[in-house]
Amino acid sequence: MEAKIAYFSAEFGIDSALPIYSGGLGVLAGDHVKAANDLGVPLVAVGILYRRGYFQQEVDAWGNQKALYPQICPEDLPVQPVLDHRGHPQTITVPLEGRLVHLKIWKAEVGTVPIYLMDAHHDQNTEADRCLTDHLYGGNTDTRLAQEMILGIGGVRVLRAVREEPDVWHMNEGHSAFMALERIREYSAQGFSFETALEAVKASTVFTTHTPVPAGHDQFSFEQMDRYLGDYYWQLGTTRENILELGKNEGLFNMTRLAVSTASKVNGVSKLHAQVTKELFHRWTPEIPKEHIQVESITNGIHTQTWLSPSMEQVYDRYLEPQWKDRIAERKVWEKVKVIPNEEIWSAHQQAKREMVQKLGLPDLTNVLTIGFARRFATYKRALLLFHDVERLERILNQVDRPVAILFAGKAHPADGPGQQLIRQIWELSQQERFKNRIILLENYDMDKAKQLVSGVDVWLNTPMKPMEASGTSGQKAAVNGVINCSILDGWWAEGYNGYNGWAIDGGTGGTWQEQDRLDAQALYQLLEEEIVPLYYQSNTSWVEKMKESIESLTPVFSTSCMVAEYWGKLYIPTAIRGRRFIENGLEVAERVAQYKSFIRNHWPYVGVEDMEFLSAFPDVATIQCKVRLGEIWHKDVKVEVVRGNGEQGLYRKELQWVKELDCGLYLYAGTFPGSIEDWQGSGANIRVVPISEDFSHDLEMELVKWK
Ligand SMILES: *Cc1c(COP(=O)(O)O)cnc(C)c1O
Repeated sequence: MEAKIAYFSAEFGIDSALPIYSGGLGVLAGDHVKAANDLGVPLVAVGILYRRGYFQQEVDAWGNQKALYPQICPEDLPVQPVLDHRGHPQTITVPLEGRLVHLKIWKAEVGTVPIYLMDAHHDQNTEADRCLTDHLYGGNTDTRLAQEMILGIGGVRVLRAVREEPDVWHMNEGHSAFMALERIREYSAQGFSFETALEAVKASTVFTTHTPVPAGHDQFSFEQMDRYLGDYYWQLGTTRENILELGKNEGLFNMTRLAVSTASKVNGVSKLHAQVTKELFHRWTPEIPKEHIQVESITNGIHTQTWLSPSMEQVYDRYLEPQWKDRIAERKVWEKVKVIPNEEIWSAHQQAKREMVQKLGLPDLTNVLTIGFARRFATYKRALLLFHDVERLERILNQVDRPVAILFAGKAHPADGPGQQLIRQIWELSQQERFKNRIILLENYDMDKAKQLVSGVDVWLNTPMKPMEASGTSGQKAAVNGVINCSILDGWWAEGYNGYNGWAIDGGTGGTWQEQDRLDAQALYQLLEEEIVPLYYQSNTSWVEKMKESIESLTPVFSTSCMVAEYWGKLYIPTAIRGRRFIENGLEVAERVAQYKSFIRNHWPYVGVEDMEFLSAFPDVATIQCKVRLGEIWHKDVKVEVVRGNGEQGLYRKELQWVKELDCGLYLYAGTFPGSIEDWQGSGANIRVVPISEDFSHDLEMELVKWK
């Protein structure tokens, strides 16, 4: 089936030469686009061309991060201006704070996949407005709101201007969720009601959430919303209140809430993260057990070829099947890693290390066990965990004949004081005589430096506070290069670690944050002292075997070819089919669903469960029976289920059958289940009623339940 996907993201990490990314989120978006191109997925991407990028980092003599913002000329970037049919630069406008902001459109191409990038440096804008798109994640919350309106609303207008007709609209993180409002506005302008438009939009939208960290979920005050969108609300064919309701979270307008309200499929970026996300979303639907909240999981991957060092690639070329590059997701391809002679793997790795040393201007590390820790300096990533006991670390790094060096790199957001403090502390330690050439802080981490580090070090370290690392991808980049992971069992590593392919830092569970840090630090020191350092220096054979195990077990699984195929199968195709069905014949299905929902919502207050009874005819089966009052609602429009806790397995849930109408609007339901009646009576079982429809994406689509 053909289906066009529109992929919206605030950042894209395609290449260092296009500095419109800050970290993992952007790099993931870039790798998603690259894999879409490889797999022939018809995708069109939308983002912003930040004239000053994120920032360039320098660290001064006191360890202070300096953020530099060199002006970037689009003429120097791998982008082309988009022209209209008369050959003039194509422009779109976005209404902001009661005025129109004009945006130029640039196009970057990743093979056959276009990325359209908006840029506010337009003659018709005021000086101030021209700077709106200068900085990625810069300015205050007004700037952020303006940028998100540009991304979401402007992004839809860009696609219309270049005549794209996507079937599926993918919000990569909540930043782009205003796209839903703009699409509602379009339908509204064609004469459809807000409710019908919302259903049509929802059926064709998917949302990927990327972090449980609160700073990753933007919120705006209603006052700000009114100021920026005041003259836009009415174009959506409904009231201000109905629009604010879509994003309402504790008196603020929350972009994640907006995304969830306007998408029919939501996913987290690892199995663990999907669970954590359900807990996070639970506050919006407290009536629904968190286990039943619909969040899929699609674990992040990397674009293998982007992150593979040339020396390791040559080895793979020699020993793997000729077409291995087109078959990265096949485990069979990687089983051949076993037959690669150890010396070849080792020499390719040493070659990558030499290249890193040379390119990054490092001291000679040829015979030094080298550990890499590089990523954004966000506090939950705990860059200082390694320094919990500085004396113990010193002993580990400075053993005679067994030296260990640690390379750090990363930027802290310019408004993140604690993040910058981490840089200062690492810098200070790196300046101490005892840590000379043992602790090294590199400036200005970017994709180029990442490529050097993830292939040139021996061990890749990650120490997030579980479960805050939604996925993490840098360890996956390390794995394909034979660099061995040592990480907390969080995000992707909780799925990737198999006991042999690296090390898991597992200090157990501490009560407080401080206690957790202490336990995890101790587990890490112990790993270094007892396993990692001895293995590296005692047995090159065992070390290389571990490298091979890591390459073989992780490379085929954590690649974007796998990941995008999963997006295609789990999200894109079902959404394309359903989305199309909703808009056929003048939005016929969308309108029917809107009317049905409105009817159910009006009558739901009268729905209730009365008299739950347990009956038994046999020793080990129980019949559960209850009366359900549905009033005006038809019995075929609800599902009645028994729900009980089931220990480790989560929730047990089975449907009761409709038996008969007892009275006007009052129905008898019953079901027979394994288990003695005493068992059932003491089990805390409940009856749950939900409205259903074949047109819904799932049973809890309306977020309505009645319990007994
Ligand atoms: C891959 C990558 C990241 C993500 O690193 P994590 O450890 O997964 O957070 C951040 N920045 C750059 C430049 C990257 O290439």
